[in-house]
Amino acid sequence: CQNAVLTGPIETTMCDYETIESVNEDLFGNISELVDKPFFRYFQVDLYRECPFWPDDGYCNEPGCAITSVDESDVPEKWRAKALSKVDPSSVDQRHSLPGCYYRDSDFCFLDDNTEGEYFDLRLVPERYTGYSGKDAHRVWRSIYEENCFGLTELNLLGAKSPNLVSLPDTMIEVLHEDDEEPDPQCLEKRVYYKVISGLHASISTHICHEYLNQTTGQWHPNLNCFINRVASHPERLQYIYFDTILLLRAVARLGPYLSAFDYCSTGTHEDDQETLQILSKVIDIAKHAGAFDETILFRGENANVFKEEFKTHFRNVTRIMDCVGCDKCRLWGKIQTTGIATALKILFELDEKALDPRTNSDLLHRSEVVALMNTLFRFSESLQAVEDFRTMWRDRSNAE
Ligand code: FAD
Repeated sequence: CQNAVLTGPIETTMCDYETIESVNEDLFGNISELVDKPFFRYFQVDLYRECPFWPDDGYCNEPGCAITSVDESDVPEKWRAKALSKVDPSSVDQRHSLPGCYYRDSDFCFLDDNTEGEYFDLRLVPERYTGYSGKDAHRVWRSIYEENCFGLTELNLLGAKSPNLVSLPDTMIEVLHEDDEEPDPQCLEKRVYYKVISGLHASISTHICHEYLNQTTGQWHPNLNCFINRVASHPERLQYIYFDTILLLRAVARLGPYLSAFDYCSTGTHEDDQETLQILSKVIDIAKHAGAFDETILFRGENANVFKEEFKTHFRNVTRIMDCVGCDKCRLWGKIQTTGIATALKILFELDEKALDPRTNSDLLHRSEVVALMNTLFRFSESLQAVEDFRTMWRDRSNAE
């Protein structure tokens, strides 16, 4: 592993990061095309459920927070409510139901029960600066970190070990082993949990800074100072964006045969099915090459199942906290991305090869889980593209000085 010379806060080292960076352009090109397909564009969700944790959700009045759903008649017929209500009730598996949502024992998230939700065309809703901020946004993040992170905060995590860009470890697997030295047997899982959340937070921040609104001129532009302040000056946050990307890629690689057997037909002609499958197979190949995450070192030992249940409960809570996000647009992407990560966690930690076999378990995932998984990978890949732009801006600025 060759360390790059550190010339600024957003340089990075070679190695596994380099593997991801070397494939990301290709990944981004293919996954952008994939999420444009009808199967992946339309997402049904109930955005207006009550926040279960506090009475007011700090509703955001910024125009950037507003969102419009699509008319159901614009959605391919087979996903409309009428068609979905024809699903054979005997095929619905064991669920723990709450009003409007449910989870199965294997799930890391609450899923919508599709009785109330509206459809959104995700291509019409970029993830970018909306103006949602201040104490309401902080309360949501704080609650995710403090109440649902096994009491682990950034400060005590960084106090334990402070990574920097010069000494990034060789592989993500080493990141896990490095943490494994901790005497607390629960620590490895806690830290993985923290990295997942912090990586998501950093990816959202990267999007905000990359498509930032200058309120004086009304222009959208990448804001390098915003990115330095929120992400690059905390190198571990940048590292966790890679961490989440690798986790998602590993899940897609494991799910390859299942994804290849899924029905993507939306029009009834099967042409879209073929096109979708072609692009998907390229994404799966990239995932096989770059998804070097070793899930087998987690949840081992005598209390493994207890830890896993605790991890699941915490992550399910995070998906419910999304109902407390006071900005509609942020809530939509928050829900999609927490569902996408939860789906990846389920694939990695709950399902063995037999369970993932499409011939024996064709109903393993719902469409919403597959759509969320791929759109979440798209968002992380887009963040890494944005990081490249910020690196170029940083170099240009340094050269000009
Ligand atoms: P915040 O990002 O709110 O962070 C709060 C504190 O958390 C920081 O002071 C820091 O101590 C710590 N922190 C920050 N980043 C990390 C990290 N990566 N890891 C660990 N700790 C960290 N706003 C938009 O404009 N567009 C969106 O699409 C959008 N989506 C959102 C989705 C969700 C689920 C939530 C909760 C918020 C969303 N927001 C969005 C709001 C946005 O995330 C910020 O809260 C807001 O921009 C204010 O930013 P801030 O600089 O005050 O710090």
